[in-house]
Amino acid sequence: MAAPRFAFDNSYVQLPERFYSLVKPTPVRAPALLKVNHGLARELGLDPAALESPEGVAVLAGNQVPSGAQPLAQVYAGHQFGGWVPQLGDGRAILLGEVIDVHRIRRDIQLKGSGPTPYSRRGDGRAWLGPVLREYLVSEAMHALGVPTTRALAAVSTGESVYREEEWPGAVLTRVATSHIRVGTFQYFAARDDRDGLRALSEHALGRHYPGASGPLSLLEHVVEAQAKLVAQWLSLGFIHGVMNTDNTSVGGETIDYGPCAFLDTYHPDTVFSSIDVQGRYAYAAQPQVMLWNLAQLANALLPILAEDRDEAIRLATAALDRYAPLYGEQWLMRFRAKLGLLEPREGDRELAEALLKLMAQNQADFTRTFRGLVDGSARAEFQDPAAFDRWAEGWRQRAASEGSDDASRAARMARSNPAFHPRNHRIEEAIQAAVSGNLQPFERLLAACTDPYTDQPDYADLQLAPKPHEVVEATFCGT
Ligand code: AMP
Ligand code: MG
Repeated sequence: MAAPRFAFDNSYVQLPERFYSLVKPTPVRAPALLKVNHGLARELGLDPAALESPEGVAVLAGNQVPSGAQPLAQVYAGHQFGGWVPQLGDGRAILLGEVIDVHRIRRDIQLKGSGPTPYSRRGDGRAWLGPVLREYLVSEAMHALGVPTTRALAAVSTGESVYREEEWPGAVLTRVATSHIRVGTFQYFAARDDRDGLRALSEHALGRHYPGASGPLSLLEHVVEAQAKLVAQWLSLGFIHGVMNTDNTSVGGETIDYGPCAFLDTYHPDTVFSSIDVQGRYAYAAQPQVMLWNLAQLANALLPILAEDRDEAIRLATAALDRYAPLYGEQWLMRFRAKLGLLEPREGDRELAEALLKLMAQNQADFTRTFRGLVDGSARAEFQDPAAFDRWAEGWRQRAASEGSDDASRAARMARSNPAFHPRNHRIEEAIQAAVSGNLQPFERLLAACTDPYTDQPDYADLQLAPKPHEVVEATFCGT
């Protein structure tokens, strides 16, 4: 079996040297294959079998640098939980290079957990199996749910131990993204008053994410729009990112940096899972507002290149940011209207959706099961007070029937907006625990169910169940 051949076409490395550090992955003791994503491999023009060969696994573990790769760590800055950090950067990730995929889209291929870089600070540059499998599962589930996201191409184990309070098996994730440019990347150059750097980065980001658009104002407008859409989608699926720092906010509008992320089980707007988010800064319902704050940091970073005159730059930036709230509102309503099977926009639709959410919170209803249950009539069982649900459902049925769509086609549409499957926290934990003891079957099952999330799959019915009280996961961890 031949080594995998990547048709690298690297552009980030062409940017000025102060944008990155050239650094190679650090080899590991005993690489072993956990998973290769065949569909994504083919999309990238790669032979899945070659990736699974010993030569391929050596590449995925960082033991072999493939021909044409120009490995580097990107520098960035960012606000972490609102606090400014002037220099961050890829501390445990290395960009191997870029390929042009079958759709002619440029994609980064990055190893995560591949050893120290100049930006590792006190970290070891490594990852353990838990966060690697969690990111694999959640990012691939998000993609299948239709959410823009970074992808998982592969996971390998390293045969080495990683220490996070306890000793854990080490692993490396191969992550694919349309770029790894973050709001924090712009902040890094802005903080150094490096206007040439800002301009070069802006041009580069535009070319990759918003071809046809030009200039930093247009970039800002596009990022505002992409992020408004993205966060509305997160909320429509009960997703909580968990660490919405500006360095974890992609200018391409993909969900990035899966750490303590989690999906809601029972619905409550104030839900937080991340063990480090003690103030609830990144709670479920706080996410739209936090994203606006992050976009304001991007706008602020772009100010020096938006216009010669500072007042004019501020005026342009403010106008771009002002688009966020109405756009987000429209997107949220569009998503929830679809979840309720409504075709025509009508007065009162927002109130109808909000009334259901309020009832769900009062009744500790499971988010995903309730919405999927609207399709087949099983939703009322999720409510402690089913009669309260019945009263809401009466109004909903009248509203739905009044636009003249038939029940069967409405149910079919709703089944495409309300997933049956998503990676539930307790199932992710179960899959990780099994994998630590060498059993990948729960991981494979959960992945199979969640990569076809809108289809009823009786074989995986157990994965649709809400956690039993003793199974509920209260806290999730970054795993850094
Ligand atoms: P995160 O909160 O996961 O987005 O990480 C924040 C920053 O810490 C990034 O710059 C990471 O590269 C860095 N980092 C996280 N974990 C490690 C690690 N184990 N070793 C080195 N750097 C890390
Ligand atoms: Mg990060």
